[in-house]
Amino acid sequence: MNPSLAPVETTAPSDVLISIENLQVHFPVLGGGLLQRQTGVIKAVDGVSLQIYGGETLSLVGESGCGKSTLGRGILQLEPLTQGKIFFKNIELTALKPETLRQMRHRMQVVFQDPYGSLNPRMTVAKIVGEPLMIHRLIERQQLRQRVQDLLELVGLHPSFADRYPHEFSGGQRQRIGIARALAADPEFILCDEPIAALDVSIQAQIINLMQSLQQKLGLTYLFIAHDLRVVRHISHRIAVMYLGRIVELSSCSDLYANPLHPYTQALLSAIPIPDPESEKQRQPMILTGDIPSPINPPPGCHFHPRCPFVMEQCRRQEPELRAIGSEHWVACHLVE
Ligand code: SF4
Repeated sequence: MNPSLAPVETTAPSDVLISIENLQVHFPVLGGGLLQRQTGVIKAVDGVSLQIYGGETLSLVGESGCGKSTLGRGILQLEPLTQGKIFFKNIELTALKPETLRQMRHRMQVVFQDPYGSLNPRMTVAKIVGEPLMIHRLIERQQLRQRVQDLLELVGLHPSFADRYPHEFSGGQRQRIGIARALAADPEFILCDEPIAALDVSIQAQIINLMQSLQQKLGLTYLFIAHDLRVVRHISHRIAVMYLGRIVELSSCSDLYANPLHPYTQALLSAIPIPDPESEKQRQPMILTGDIPSPINPPPGCHFHPRCPFVMEQCRRQEPELRAIGSEHWVACHLVE
């Protein structure tokens, strides 16, 4: 990441755009053989409640397999929900009929991680970017080309690129096309699912800058998914840290970096190299032993207890609740009670 990127200013939250109540996304584990009986359940998302404010970037951070992408996809109902409610501007999406939900979908879009795999190689850029407008019948055919060209300009691409195919572009340009497609239907909310993880470091800052300027220009709200805390410092208003299907810490960005309370957050932060060589010499990474446990059979009590350097007896049997520590900071840990 480019260290010259300025952190975003913390703004007073505006109205709640999306509210999530006790969301669960569980997948059945099927045994072998003809009958394929269910032998277990993967609890990818296990009771998450969150609010996302209009105009903010809320980042969702955690290791691979912690459920962050499933949570994002669950919010957009791209995954079937096991339980829970989702409200978009006080409309309960989880109670809508499929046709009504389909009509609302254009207000919530996605930018995917893989700019290579997420664009259809047989479609021109004009078709890719214009597709959401046609699917949702948001534009007359005669106006489509001009709208696509305007969108390409908005994301920093030349309008003449409309007639080219995805293979003619670099990774960064493809991600700009993916962003143009997400913006086509004039959304209010964008799920950014690790949008820079597959890009060269030199390109990452350009895409982040573009997303920030689009947010300011268009008043967008982002849920930004990332696997480490390095990337999100420069773009987040708030950060939620996720571990094995649950939120373990949620805070304003500045408070999380200044005062991380959950041992897992502390470990993630301690793994980030410090640009200043003198400070870097003193950095003492908190090494976590073991891998993230299986969500099929998560540890009882605090899911983090087998890896936690501060584990106590209580942690092995009692699940810590996510509780408020101050007005902007929430944490689920028995140490902070
Ligand atoms: Fe560690 Fe216990 Fe806190 Fe879990 S609840 S993070 S095991 S101290």
